[in-house]
Amino acid sequence: MLDLKNDIYVKDVDLWLDPRVKKPFSFVSHGHSDHLRRHEHVLVSEGTALFYKDKFKKGHVVAKSFNEPFSINGCTVELFPSGHMLGAAQILIEHEERIVYTGDFKLARGSTAEQAQIKNCDILIMECTYGNPKYVFPPREEVNENIVRFVETCLNGGTIPVLFAYRLGKAQEVMKLLGNRNIPAAVSQSVFDSAKLYERAGVTFGPYRLFEGGDVRDSVVIGPWGMRKQGLLKGIKSKRTAALTGWALDGGTRFRFGADTSFPLSDHADFNGLFEYVRRVQPRTVYTVHGPHRFCTYLREAGFRAEPLPLKSSPQLSLW
Ligand SMILES: [Zn+2]
Repeated sequence: MLDLKNDIYVKDVDLWLDPRVKKPFSFVSHGHSDHLRRHEHVLVSEGTALFYKDKFKKGHVVAKSFNEPFSINGCTVELFPSGHMLGAAQILIEHEERIVYTGDFKLARGSTAEQAQIKNCDILIMECTYGNPKYVFPPREEVNENIVRFVETCLNGGTIPVLFAYRLGKAQEVMKLLGNRNIPAAVSQSVFDSAKLYERAGVTFGPYRLFEGGDVRDSVVIGPWGMRKQGLLKGIKSKRTAALTGWALDGGTRFRFGADTSFPLSDHADFNGLFEYVRRVQPRTVYTVHGPHRFCTYLREAGFRAEPLPLKSSPQLSLW
């Protein structure tokens, strides 16, 4: 049923899963640019359809609701949330056996993404970005509180807090977090445009406006780390910067991102989350993508049959 030599191809359905090059019919798991490729026909969740159609004006889009099984070529197919960002989907394909492909996922509850679900299957194809035991994130609420405290301390001291966050998903998550505390946000163009798409899907935010450079008062600035290279921050007289990424657990992350500090706010499962997922599913075989091959060794030591797929991960995916 599966051909795994070159991207992930499900023969019985004639469907590719997040392929890296154009295919006749592909499942696109979510709206991040490392997954969003143009295909002749795409299968996406309703949320991801917003991002796909915004990027590609052409192409045939089959948009499906979560948890509503449908049939393709005699196989039962179902999309269900992965919790990675708004609309991010896992796919369950059932014929003689049950196959689940997770795409990027996180089990922790976010405020702008649907809560991840877990379904039993025989074959599990999963991402394992943080498949190293050194990546165990603190509880999400604790990370959120630390970000809020950082922002409030800066503002109370007359300094502008600047948060570096991936433009789609992470930035909206932190906009929602700070908007709930009524902290005004000034956001980069790309974050602003992405927030408008989120609003079309029904997500609401606190006060925010477009930031195009110059000085800022009484607001948190949110944008991708590219903002700094573009010189957009030069006009802010007094600022403190923070990178929001799971890689914050690595000591040198704040230097890597050129930030004063960092917080481990991630849209991916940490090592424990990856393991918890496999334990709850109890699959016959696990294939891993986009992470350290060593994660399969840990799974095998725990009694699971596990193999890494020889797919090259894109640099962007390995960053976030
Ligand atoms: Zn992603």
